[in-house]
Amino acid sequence: MLKNIKRSTLINSILALIPIAIIILPATNGCISRTVHTSIMEVDCRKATIEYAVKDTPNIITKTSFCNDYMFKNESLSLAIKIFVKEYADTFDVSEDKVWSMISGITIEVSAIPRSVHAAYDVNGKFLKGDVPVNGLALSKDYIWVEAKTSQIWSSALIHELIHIIIWRKNKVHGDPDHEGSQFSGWSKKHTVFIEKMKDILLDMEL
Ligand SMILES: [Zn+2]
Repeated sequence: MLKNIKRSTLINSILALIPIAIIILPATNGCISRTVHTSIMEVDCRKATIEYAVKDTPNIITKTSFCNDYMFKNESLSLAIKIFVKEYADTFDVSEDKVWSMISGITIEVSAIPRSVHAAYDVNGKFLKGDVPVNGLALSKDYIWVEAKTSQIWSSALIHELIHIIIWRKNKVHGDPDHEGSQFSGWSKKHTVFIEKMKDILLDMEL
């Protein structure tokens, strides 16, 4: 009798576990086979255009560095910039219209090929000389270059370079190349923290 009770308790326990297992399994499988959303595309200037106007933006143009290269998909880049504008406006207490005006008409050059410069500042304002590898550059107040490091925008320097553009257009003469360093003005700790927050938002959205 005692044995039978024990056995039925055991069976009940197993039966109770089955629905959980059934619920959990498809989710586990779903996770394993989950595909990563791609925000980049390969282009070839002999087959299609390597320059286009970014959808729903004020004359923002994007292009690749080379004929056969990678660039961000129009939908993905447009969405990433829209989120940037909204978050920047909220964080720095300015209107979204103002943020749009600060990045209007810029060109975003993209490439899968990394670049290096002879000198640059790191985010703390430390001056680096020699062959310094960079994954983004603000070349003027109207032009940035960004490396497509992975298949998603969050891992690129897009947000970092957009901030240089805003500071450059505000300062007129420079985009604060030494970031949080004291030689140039404009960049604050708040900008560095904002970039990290934006990275998390874009990552969550698989952009
Ligand atoms: Zn920078």
